[in-house]
Amino acid sequence: MCLFVEDKIMERVAEVKVLLVENVCEVCKIGTMQQTDMPILLSNPPKWEHKCTYCEHRDWYTLKYPYQKFEKVN
Ligand SMILES: [Zn+2]
Repeated sequence: MCLFVEDKIMERVAEVKVLLVENVCEVCKIGTMQQTDMPILLSNPPKWEHKCTYCEHRDWYTLKYPYQKFEKVN
C-alpha cells in the first residue's frame, strides 16, 4: 500500500502566451464589460455585475470579465 500518492505526479513545464478574453458590450459594441465592485448575485450559477467602459450599460455574467487565458507555445 502506498500512502504517498504524490510520487505518481509527472510534472511537465510548458512555455505559454497569455491571452486576454474581453467581453465586448452588446449595446454600443465599442466598450468592453468590466466587473464592478458589486457583491456577487446569489443566483445559480452565481453571477457578477459588469459595466461597459464606454456607455455604462450594466449586465450580469457567470464569468468575470476580462479574464486571462493561457495558450501553449509550440
Ligand atoms: Zn457599451
